[in-house]
Amino acid sequence: MAGRERLGEPFGERARRRCLINSQIMRKHLPYGRQVIEDDDIEAVVNVLRGDWLTTGPNVDDFEAALAERVNAKFAVSCSSGTAALHLAAMALRLGPNDAVVVPTLTFAATANAALYVGADVIFADVDPNSGLMTSDTLQEALEQSRGRNVRAVFPVHLNGQCADPEEISKIAGTAGLHVIEDACHALGSSYDVSDGTVAFAGECRHSDAAVFSFHPVKTIAVGEGGAVTTNDAALDARMRQLRNHGLTRNPADFANHELGFACDGEANPWYYEVADLGFNFRLNDISCAMGLSQLKKVDRFIERRRDLVQQYRDGLADLAPLLRPIDQKPGNAAAWHIFAVLIDFDRLGCERAKFIKKLRDRSIGSQVHYIPLHLQPLYQDRFGDQSRLAGAETYYEKVLSLPLFPSLSDDDVSYVIEVLHDIVPSA
Ligand SMILES: *Cc1c(COP(=O)(O)O)cnc(C)c1O
Repeated sequence: MAGRERLGEPFGERARRRCLINSQIMRKHLPYGRQVIEDDDIEAVVNVLRGDWLTTGPNVDDFEAALAERVNAKFAVSCSSGTAALHLAAMALRLGPNDAVVVPTLTFAATANAALYVGADVIFADVDPNSGLMTSDTLQEALEQSRGRNVRAVFPVHLNGQCADPEEISKIAGTAGLHVIEDACHALGSSYDVSDGTVAFAGECRHSDAAVFSFHPVKTIAVGEGGAVTTNDAALDARMRQLRNHGLTRNPADFANHELGFACDGEANPWYYEVADLGFNFRLNDISCAMGLSQLKKVDRFIERRRDLVQQYRDGLADLAPLLRPIDQKPGNAAAWHIFAVLIDFDRLGCERAKFIKKLRDRSIGSQVHYIPLHLQPLYQDRFGDQSRLAGAETYYEKVLSLPLFPSLSDDDVSYVIEVLHDIVPSA
């Protein structure tokens, strides 16, 4: 490929670039994201295997306490996945049939599916075409278009790790009487400036009822499959604990059936429990929680590395704008970047995205599209009809591509990706 034959480029520089590009034959495939598992994580898991508990044991409580502390929330309820966490939060807030939930259309299917699981309808909000985030304006638009419906909640998504206008969105939600569940699956460790001069963490729930995290291997920390909900609301915390464990209660104060629950002397029967609600088995096991606890200890190092890598990408790709440019950074946000997303003008480039992805793959570089707007998916179109065009999301979707980002990516790997992109994208 002719690539970037820049006038006046020193010969040595060009030769170095060719060398880098040719060396891809030797290169290991770079996925867009992956876990980093170290010896102490393995040791933590092995210790559980040698111990007494495989399911709910001491590591569950310890992991929940450490997570709550890390995000500055009062409570954390661990569960089997980020999807289960969204479902739990929706159930615990008693969202249900005849209710509607506003969800940004640019997110993973699980965010919207949580509303469907409890029988609620989804109203999709548009997003900013340059950051992919729902804004206070796009939320307002969605609410205006859903007048007459029983809108009860909004699920803002901290896409790529940036927090979506939490303060403004919480104000709008307060006025409209909506619950707020943050989908913070991308944003463990992200924080944002608050107008009172303080800083709040994603998941701290200063501007929401609850926040949801995922510990899937591509996310900031990995436990295999796992998730959690954080909240400052003790009643919500208690309901979620019950719902993740079949809706059971063993608390005598909650027993409805006194004849079955208590002996003649008034003591609660030792075997007795009550199924108070329709719950699920959404528990996270002790093995995963031990791994999560070990991973949480290094989350600051992971986040720092992610931020450093994103800065290297931004510096190295700056001259490719406007054909290729990183997504907009939101002011007042300190994102713990989960994804490094760029916007590419494939039309002006005269190269379809599929071909572009293939060119990268041929050079051992993985990439992915986050996400196909949900209002274009058959499931939601069948249920809610063809929604009106959500232009911001469609513009973002047409251009977006996620490049490799994970803490064990080396500086050399990033330089290599930058060089290959310079070879594929002619500088403007
Ligand atoms: C990963 C993810 C989920 C679901 O998490 P799982 O643990 O995979 O179930 C939900 N929402 C977003 C935005 C995600 O990235």
